[in-house]
Amino acid sequence: MCGIFAYTGKKGKDAGGVLLDGLLSLEYRGYDSAGIYTPESGSVRTPGAVAELRKKIPKGFKGKSGIAHLRWATHGEPTEKNAHPHSDCEGEVWVVHNGIIENFKELKEKLIKKGHTFTSDSDTEVLAHLVEEHLKKEKSFEKAALAALNEVNGTYGIALQYKKEPDRIIAARMGSPIVLGLGDGEHFIASDPSPILPHTKKVVFLEDGEVAVISPDGHRIFKLDSTKVKRDATNIDWSAEATQKGGHEHFMLKEIMEGPEVIENTLRGRLIIEKGLAKLGGLESVAKQLEKIERVIVVACGTAYYAGLVGEYMLEEYAGIPVEVELGSEFRYRKSVINEKTVVLGISQSGETADTLEALREGKRRGALTLGIVNTVGSTIARETDAGVYNHAGPEISVASTKAFLSQLTALALFTMFFGRQRGMSEATGREIAKALKELPEKLQQILDTKESIQKLAKKYSKARDFLYIGRKYNYPIAYEGAIKLKEISYVHAEGCGAGEMKHGPIAMIDENFPTMAIAPKDSMYEKMVSNIHEIKARKGPVIAIATKGDKEIAKLADDVLYVPETLEMLSPILNVVPLQLFAYYFAKEKGLNVDRPRNLAKSVTVE
Ligand code: GLU
Repeated sequence: MCGIFAYTGKKGKDAGGVLLDGLLSLEYRGYDSAGIYTPESGSVRTPGAVAELRKKIPKGFKGKSGIAHLRWATHGEPTEKNAHPHSDCEGEVWVVHNGIIENFKELKEKLIKKGHTFTSDSDTEVLAHLVEEHLKKEKSFEKAALAALNEVNGTYGIALQYKKEPDRIIAARMGSPIVLGLGDGEHFIASDPSPILPHTKKVVFLEDGEVAVISPDGHRIFKLDSTKVKRDATNIDWSAEATQKGGHEHFMLKEIMEGPEVIENTLRGRLIIEKGLAKLGGLESVAKQLEKIERVIVVACGTAYYAGLVGEYMLEEYAGIPVEVELGSEFRYRKSVINEKTVVLGISQSGETADTLEALREGKRRGALTLGIVNTVGSTIARETDAGVYNHAGPEISVASTKAFLSQLTALALFTMFFGRQRGMSEATGREIAKALKELPEKLQQILDTKESIQKLAKKYSKARDFLYIGRKYNYPIAYEGAIKLKEISYVHAEGCGAGEMKHGPIAMIDENFPTMAIAPKDSMYEKMVSNIHEIKARKGPVIAIATKGDKEIAKLADDVLYVPETLEMLSPILNVVPLQLFAYYFAKEKGLNVDRPRNLAKSVTVE
């Protein structure tokens, strides 16, 4: 969760400025407080974001190196004293940390007995004192840091700095991402490449259990047991501009508008239309093994979980393989039945989602083949799974996921073709899906072109305090996804519901002030959906229908209609979700809320 950024250079750059600019590009990961330390000027910390930190930094604050942090509190309230960087008793060892030190209580008690004084409630502070304690015997900062790291349990991405060796910074990784940036006469440590990219495109990803030391002139990597690690640098071609808003008021709108391009990118080079095949390079190494697979368990969280539910229907219908979809947070703690004929497929935009990652690790331990659908290249899930498919959706900055969801659904359709053709799907069916996929970007553009009318609708309903979202079959998960989108950015109560389930409870809530968003395309469930809409109208509930272009009948029944072009039923969620994303966006905007950074949420959920 949240972000780390560290810098050391000999180019005469102002480390404070470099660090603050870098932190800004990490804000999307979620934060509640921020802080910075340079050996020359000390530390400044504050609740809030980088803007607050900037205001607090005194004139003359300087440094050639330093560490900075955006915190998303797990232990101790988001106050100044709990904000990172944390230090030892003498103010010489400084640490920024993402993750959770699980044995901090025992360590803290021991250290207090030895005379250490703690000033925060955070679990992180224990690390600075632990290094201080080891410095009494070790004398070398590097050895003391290594000894301390060997004593802690839990998850961490860390940057450590020692006042007496100001140009060296130590990084370590166990469960929370760390990437090194290799510049000319300057080096960086960050939670993801975005703050590094304006300075250098050359990066090295650390693996769990690895430690790195950076100085202006170089870097070294080793394991916790001190054995050396040699790893080539990767060139990242996401430009720093790609993380900007591209002319839109919010990242969320920019990312929704990128939908057609995103689908094209996910499909690029992966369809052989005339043969009805999906070519997924990332699955080739396990293709033979996949032929023998008897069951798929999808593990995911939040929006990715809803993508998984759509994937279940696709895979069962077209590939004839039993599929279950589980929340990562549930799967990891229960004993499900798994064997070597099971695939555990993790879906995660960031590739760092802690619960999904742990679910995949559990699957692997129990002998399953693990696969990933991941957007972030080089992320932990991408590296730890046996094989997988990258979304290629580009960086998603807005906390509420939109374009990544479209790319997850598109990737699942490709997966379905791949699995399906291995187990009896006809070439004709494959061709039909491939063609329909190819046509999606153009159809999606037609929806985006109607965004003004969706904005008007959001305005019309902006006083509503509750919404029900209903759908069936392929669009049942889309009802949930539409609801979560509205909830997370507008803080208005919205409930997703399988339309058939409505009469078993949720319909009790319906009255003239409780609108329903009904996803009712002309598909195999159309008649059933129309009946459900009648049931709501009979209780005076206002209805907004998401319907297929040309469906005039539904306009007589619903209060408002948003039209969507027709496509294959299995692909219809990819189109139907878009008006719901736009509705949520304009609804929250109408309320004047911080759409890209909703309260209480973080982009990349790297804690449980
Ligand atoms: N556990 C640490 C804290 O609460 C770090 C949280 C984070 O990842 O920002 O301070």
